[in-house]
Amino acid sequence: MIRRLRRAYRGMRLGTRLALGLGVLSLVVFAVVGTALTTYMRDYLSAQLDTTLAQGQVAQSKSIADYGTLSGKKYYSWYYAVYDVADGKPTLRRPEDPGDLPEDVDDFTSLALAQTTAHTELLRTEQLRGQGEYRLRACEVEPGVVLVSAAPMADIEDTVGQLITIQAVTFGLALLALVVLGRGMLRRGLKPLSDMAHTARDITSHDLTDSDRLPVRHDARGGGPEVEELRTAFNTMLEHIDDSLAVRAEAEQRLRRFVADASHELRTPLMSVRGYADLFQYAAANAPEERDRHLARLRAEAARMGFLLDDLLLLARLDAAEVETPLRLAEADLVELVEQAADAFRVTHGDHPLTVAPGPSALSLRLDPQRVRQVLDNLLTNAAMHTPPGTPVSVAVSLANDTAQVRIADAGPGIPPADRERVFDRFYRVDKARSRDRGGSGLGLAVAQSLIRAHGGRIDLTSEPGATVFTVTVPLAVGALTNP
Ligand code: ATP
Ligand code: MG
Repeated sequence: MIRRLRRAYRGMRLGTRLALGLGVLSLVVFAVVGTALTTYMRDYLSAQLDTTLAQGQVAQSKSIADYGTLSGKKYYSWYYAVYDVADGKPTLRRPEDPGDLPEDVDDFTSLALAQTTAHTELLRTEQLRGQGEYRLRACEVEPGVVLVSAAPMADIEDTVGQLITIQAVTFGLALLALVVLGRGMLRRGLKPLSDMAHTARDITSHDLTDSDRLPVRHDARGGGPEVEELRTAFNTMLEHIDDSLAVRAEAEQRLRRFVADASHELRTPLMSVRGYADLFQYAAANAPEERDRHLARLRAEAARMGFLLDDLLLLARLDAAEVETPLRLAEADLVELVEQAADAFRVTHGDHPLTVAPGPSALSLRLDPQRVRQVLDNLLTNAAMHTPPGTPVSVAVSLANDTAQVRIADAGPGIPPADRERVFDRFYRVDKARSRDRGGSGLGLAVAQSLIRAHGGRIDLTSEPGATVFTVTVPLAVGALTNP
């Protein structure tokens, strides 16, 4: 039974539970107040009855002493017994009115006897046979005469009984109102919490693998500062989940795109290799003079595939740079590296006039010379590959705020604003068809950016028709040696 009650209590809503708890507490308070009130009332009424008894006896004593009779001041259903005491023994006088005495006067006689020995007024509560409870008072009227009066206590009990009934009814009603109204109020007060629980449930039913943002927020108002605080925390948590999901979705999408692009990029040279291999086989049998040409093309495609794989491998290693950095750092002169890159550029891209702006004569830094040279070559090659022949290219080394900067600029057509953000993405090419014709895979800038980031620096791009500038910024390592 108790277990079933406990289970039922556990299954109750919080509002009902609190209301019930409040009810039990009120019940205890009502019981204490009721008991105190009833006890006080009973004591007060008893004391009043004693006073009335005493006052009545004073008047009657006077009447007995003066006239020998019990005249006047008689109350309905009260009893009066007069005893003559001789030799310490009370003898009941014949009553003037038979209604003055009850059937059984033993209690009266015993009180009168007690009075004669005590010589003072005595009060006692006795159960008179067939009459109920009575309050008895004995006093000495004059020497040798004792008066015993008895007043019924039924009135007091009636009044106290009524008081208890009234209390029980009013307290009961108050308790009912408290529990019912309290439950309603508590439910209303707790509604924001249950709304929040609904929101949380909605999230559970929402497919989190979806890249969309969570469609739910808890946007109700009110409920007090605590609820407001909880709501804010709840919404902040949702915001956080949203952000994490967005980041994850974005990363997943980028990875998917990367894998798709990489497969696609690898497939193109692979198809060419196959095609040239077939041609080579055909030429070996039918046109031997064509053979070497096909073999050379085959080698070139294989080499292109090799470069692509090298780039991919390098990017993968740079992505996992926290585990093992793919850089071989050494003390190297940045100005010298730029000059070497410029010389190589002049040899390979003679149709693009190159100027090296005057700057520091030497700038010794701690970096990976081969990788930095690779970045410079990438940027310079871009300036030649993606601009018409004859476009001037310039390169400048400078020092600014604890950083070394290399600016590679060309006067080509520039990169449209919409593409500027994305040219550093893997496999991104502004004009896909043309770039591919020139042998570009779209990995050059991605590799350059990853390499410079691995050095703690960054590459910035500004571009407008006639002025496309890539600025490579690397921090001067601690203890860098500079010779201006
Ligand atoms: P890869 O360098 O891998 O051989 P790519 O040169 O096409 O191929 P990125 O170096 O990453 O790839 O360059 C991305 C794209 O940015 C290029 O395809 C080109 O459209 C554009 N771009 C880069 N540099 C310049 C530039 N100096 N002027 C105009 N467009 C440029
Ligand atoms: Mg490039």
